[in-house]
Amino acid sequence: MTYEIFVSKKPLDGREIEEIKGLPVVKPIQVHGNLVAFVGKGKSRRPKADAVVTDSKEIWIGVLAADCLPIFLIGEGVVGVVHAGWRGTLKGIAFNAVSYINKFSRVKKAIFGVSICKFCYEVGEDVRSLFPPMYDGCFKEIGEGKFLFDIKTANLIQLKSAGVRDFEFLEGCTCCDNHLFYSYRKEKTQKRNLFAIRIT
Ligand SMILES: [Zn+2]
Repeated sequence: MTYEIFVSKKPLDGREIEEIKGLPVVKPIQVHGNLVAFVGKGKSRRPKADAVVTDSKEIWIGVLAADCLPIFLIGEGVVGVVHAGWRGTLKGIAFNAVSYINKFSRVKKAIFGVSICKFCYEVGEDVRSLFPPMYDGCFKEIGEGKFLFDIKTANLIQLKSAGVRDFEFLEGCTCCDNHLFYSYRKEKTQKRNLFAIRIT
């Protein structure tokens, strides 16, 4: 199966992108939860979910992010896209999305989109303390109750535990590469980067 990925860059605001190359983009209403929604062709309403899956060649599915981690999932005749911030990661959204797809297909590969990197993502003890021991290696203490969080590795652990073996990583950090991508933490912007995928 072949697929195509679209990543928006500044000054494009992903929130305003409704179609790419003449095909509509279905973007869920993201709630930092762990629900997965299936969308087929013609379904233009936006599901409330943080992961979307489709088997249609007539739409793109995409998530909006500005520091959170977008993850593309490649199955057989099916693709998915996940929005994972620290809340979604904690709730297992990536694991859920793989499990969902694996019920009728098989996730062969996960592609990590551009998020904030492990040198830029600072969280407090309040966030760190919520994560179970399997994620201990994803936090680096930097003093004064602050930690650096490696959200990519946290999701890598999760995807591996869901059975995914093949990984690819798109280059960049929303914060380090702020001239290319929007970063909520760096700019406090409401604008978003769009990470979309379609089956070709
Ligand atoms: Zn960075």
